[in-house]
Amino acid sequence: MASTLFRTIQINPFLLYPTALFSRRNGVLYCTMKSSQTQTATQEKQQPPKVKVPQHALKKTVDKITRDYEAIIGIETHVQLSTLTKAFCSCPYNYGSQPNTSICPICMGLPGALPALNSKVIEFAVKLGLALNCKLSLNSKFDRKQYFYPDLPKGYQISQFDIPIATGGYVDLDLPLEFGGGHRKFGITRVHMEEDAGKLLHSGNGDYSQEITSLTSIYSYFSKHTVDLNRAGVPLLEIVSEPDMRTGIEAAEYAAELQRVVRYLGISNGNMQEGSLRCDVNVSIRPVGQSEFGTKVEIKNLNSFSSINRAIDFEISRQALLHSQGQSDQIVQETRLWEEGAQKTVTMRKKEGLSDYRYFPEPDLPEVILTQEYVDSISNSLPELPEAKRRRYEKMGLSMQDVLFLANDMNVAEYFDATLSSGADIKLAANWIMGDIAAYMKNEKLSINDIKLTPQELAELIASIKSGTISGKIGKEILSELLAKGGTVKGLIEEKDLIQATRVRRVYPYERTELNFLIADPVEIGKMIDKVISENPKQLEQYRGGKTKLQGFFAGQWWFRFVFAGLRPLMVTPPARKVMVVADPAPHSAAALQYALSHALLEQDELILLHVENTSSWKNTLTTFLKRPTIASAANAMTPNNSFGPDWGSTDVNFLDQMKYASEIAQPKIPVRIEKIDPDGKDKATVILSKSKDLGIDLIIIGQKRSLSSAILG
Ligand SMILES: [Zn+2]
Repeated sequence: MASTLFRTIQINPFLLYPTALFSRRNGVLYCTMKSSQTQTATQEKQQPPKVKVPQHALKKTVDKITRDYEAIIGIETHVQLSTLTKAFCSCPYNYGSQPNTSICPICMGLPGALPALNSKVIEFAVKLGLALNCKLSLNSKFDRKQYFYPDLPKGYQISQFDIPIATGGYVDLDLPLEFGGGHRKFGITRVHMEEDAGKLLHSGNGDYSQEITSLTSIYSYFSKHTVDLNRAGVPLLEIVSEPDMRTGIEAAEYAAELQRVVRYLGISNGNMQEGSLRCDVNVSIRPVGQSEFGTKVEIKNLNSFSSINRAIDFEISRQALLHSQGQSDQIVQETRLWEEGAQKTVTMRKKEGLSDYRYFPEPDLPEVILTQEYVDSISNSLPELPEAKRRRYEKMGLSMQDVLFLANDMNVAEYFDATLSSGADIKLAANWIMGDIAAYMKNEKLSINDIKLTPQELAELIASIKSGTISGKIGKEILSELLAKGGTVKGLIEEKDLIQATRVRRVYPYERTELNFLIADPVEIGKMIDKVISENPKQLEQYRGGKTKLQGFFAGQWWFRFVFAGLRPLMVTPPARKVMVVADPAPHSAAALQYALSHALLEQDELILLHVENTSSWKNTLTTFLKRPTIASAANAMTPNNSFGPDWGSTDVNFLDQMKYASEIAQPKIPVRIEKIDPDGKDKATVILSKSKDLGIDLIIIGQKRSLSSAILG
């Protein structure tokens, strides 16, 4: 029924018994028609509504008015089944393929062609019937539904009339919290099998109301309309709901739940844009307390859940307004079209009573007889369905918001389940998937199946952060790499040398105390500086243009990040610490480190700067750094009062003195002294450790290359 009306929209002027002629030209099947009646074209030109419903008035008054009415909403849904071949022939169907490339005598309805039922259609129908908690008819049949339409060359559609394969079921769903939340149960009247029709293709300007006054204009009109029969004979399941919905959002969520169910079952891709899931909605309203139904209006052309929601809410308002103005006779039984651009429904076609489809049992197909064993075996093979999944997630302690997010998309749910089976913490796994991973997918326009991070590695990442092997911040950095390129968490930690400024590592207890190391990798510091610079190009330009006050801005930016990312752990260690900084090459970063560090220290702390004297090359290193304009500017900007600025150009710079100076500016009350050691051929790490032991150091900060850090850490 619904599908017939759907088609009538497209070719309104020739609704009434046109005669059709088909001819083949260049491999395309052209449909040309002559209409015996052209006055039906006036149907297109609807009479202007007598009651104006201005948008702003609607918004203002609608809430008040609609409170007095109850909306009754029922939905007919067509789901296109993703079988390999069509329902009654061996033609494959692929959305978007060239017109009329997947057709045969059976689906074109050529004389003498006999249909043979694709058993997958039955299997999918039984699956859906069971999933929708329906009673299955063990004995059903196919019927012929007779009507003429140019996209239906047979002149009838194979459908199911009085004995649908499934009846009397229901759908459970949870409304999203932003719409008030709550559980809903909506009845399913029936599910039946049928075949799809072809598609009319309209080229040209799409003006269907063009008047035909001469033979020439008939040709001109029909040369723009062709038919594509690829879709003819593709299996559909029509799902008719009980009129249980009361609001647009309930209807949209019902449709969304059907989409989830068919996707979970794997019987359809459920894509609304492709027409694999099509909803026709019936809306009527009645005064609250009245049991009699109002006049039903059908809305078509709903190709998204949000358009279902908005179209229904619009229609409820429109009808309520007419009622409240005593013009309920203006609400007539009709089919209305949702206009996405205008955000309103408009009359497409008034109904002229019920059509007589002259149904009779399809003589070319046998009855459909199911055995209980067959039904049971399918029942046992059903996957966990959305409702069961939501209830399971809820029992695991997840909030409804999390539950809906994770269970809404079958692939996300599968990913989440797989992450849990790899041992991940439930809440943490949910947070990662709903947070960073979802954001990445949104940005990159990817589905969860496209990302390179496996559930196993996500579980590993969560475990690494939980155990303290890496910080949460590093975890996020690794995540972006894993999402884009894949790989393993362990591999990345090693490869990227993630023992760096943001990591505080406790090593074996010393004789008296537990010694802490903070490794500040100059390369990482350089990267951080580069990032601050690149994120603030405007300020950099101004700085280079002479606005030297901006040093403070850059220093602040960098300092904030560094202290909060890496040095914060210092704040929580006991006061009165002896802190030793081992600083060597890359003096600009060492100085910057010093500046930041000084802010992290407390007055009662003592600071020792240790210079390990065997690096003769540090001056060269400095020169190299200065050749990189961003780093050089950054180094200038990082230090206060431009005190290091001019000196960076000189190779005679005594950077330990500068570090001391930086520290004194930042924290004048902290005593700073410089110690120098010469390893004299001995192992550098051993010398440093021995020195720290002699001095009774509580915390060593190593602004050093990785090799030394690793050596000291053992
Ligand atoms: Zn075929």
